[in-house]
Amino acid sequence: MMFCSIAVEDPLAELSVGELIERANTNIHRSSDEPTLVEGDIAVSDDNARNADPCTSRGCMWPKSTDGKVYVPYVILNQYTSSELQVIQRGLNSFASFSCIRFIPRSNQRDYISIESRNGCYSYVGRLGNAQTVSLARSGCVYHNTVQHELLHALGFNHEQTRSDRDSYIRVAWENIQTGMESNFNKIATLNQGTPYDYNSVMQYHRTAFSKNGLPTMIPIPDPNVSFGQATQMSQNDITRLNRLYNCCKYFARSNNVPMKRAEK
Ligand SMILES: [Zn+2]
Repeated sequence: MMFCSIAVEDPLAELSVGELIERANTNIHRSSDEPTLVEGDIAVSDDNARNADPCTSRGCMWPKSTDGKVYVPYVILNQYTSSELQVIQRGLNSFASFSCIRFIPRSNQRDYISIESRNGCYSYVGRLGNAQTVSLARSGCVYHNTVQHELLHALGFNHEQTRSDRDSYIRVAWENIQTGMESNFNKIATLNQGTPYDYNSVMQYHRTAFSKNGLPTMIPIPDPNVSFGQATQMSQNDITRLNRLYNCCKYFARSNNVPMKRAEK
């Protein structure tokens, strides 16, 4: 008999980010002190009117430090196993390898994210001010793609399928959407940072998200058979638009001594 914390087969690890989130957020009991969710996993507060969300032009970005980096303080509640913590930490650290975002353990900063295992996977979009919950439920949300997805929400990004230009790239099959879930497909005046629509963005939900009948709710245009909603991690476009929104590029290039060629495309 072997007791070890690694190499445990997890069938959920095969699922796309959208499938994981939908699975984790379906039929869960939510506490009265948890926020209302829209679009599956976006938390909204009463005063939060709700690519980059338009809020980024109204002050929901995290501030840039004088050294060009964007420090985002975090705490992680003491709810996770060491292997779960490793996954979360890997997600947090990944941002330093391709952007000027630095998630740092909170000391006394006023604004910070609090990573907690609440009911489901969710995050607010952008910086709220003071503590803001990023929920990564132990059952179903602790995967590299879901961690990156929820952190991108906290940094100000919305879902790919809500992009202002999405109708040129996907057809929303309204007839297949569960009744009452149509608003999850509302378009938003997103700031797309000059990046193309990306079917395999980590912010793109899967083909059958919110489907009532198993048929697709989103169909790529013009080729309905392209790979879609299957991201296991942030795509190059996700990285590029993050670097553009936070104006990372020159700082990133300097601190890492490598040109940001890929992000400039
Ligand atoms: Zn989301």
